[in-house]
Amino acid sequence: MKIGVLSFQGSFVEHLNSIKALGHTPIAVKTAEQLNQCKALILPGGETTNLRKVIPFSLKKEIMSKAKKGFPIYGTCAGAILLAEKIEDEISFLPLIEVEIQRNAYGSQLDSFEEKIEINAEGFSNKEKKFPAVFIRAPQIKKIFSKKVKVLAYCNKKPVLLRQKNILISTFHPELTNDLRIHEFFLKMISD
Ligand code: GLN
Repeated sequence: MKIGVLSFQGSFVEHLNSIKALGHTPIAVKTAEQLNQCKALILPGGETTNLRKVIPFSLKKEIMSKAKKGFPIYGTCAGAILLAEKIEDEISFLPLIEVEIQRNAYGSQLDSFEEKIEINAEGFSNKEKKFPAVFIRAPQIKKIFSKKVKVLAYCNKKPVLLRQKNILISTFHPELTNDLRIHEFFLKMISD
């Protein structure tokens, strides 16, 4: 399958490699035409201030219209911020998941950390094998506005992996580990 990764800025190369490692064809997406070749899209981590400026309006429009029709989208870290319906003190960008998110919520002391987390979803039945979640200047989910939003994982009691139908977000970076289970889980959402 052709899987798109928004490729302007941030950890897009790592996501492209994860897709390749799972035996699929990664497509670096910068335009609506490239997006139209794909079965799903990943929005990588990076810097939202920057990403907001470089994503063309035509691509943004196409992402919104596809998402409304059930097209699977996975946002990691900055990608999750872009997908939140509400961003604390900022205007939302692609409001597709009914949560409020706060940027850089862990403060400077805890700018980056790794924590093994338990995931409650299909493909994660082996509870012994926790997932290495890497947080880098990570955001935090502050509110969940709808019962349609399912929390699939917590870290220190905070929701860090969430799904609302075809939209998946994580406040951490699975593409920076060799554990491909979350990418695998996301690709299964294509046939849901
Ligand atoms: N701090 C970044 C932002 O607010 C997100 C960090 C990341 O993607 N690792 O946009």
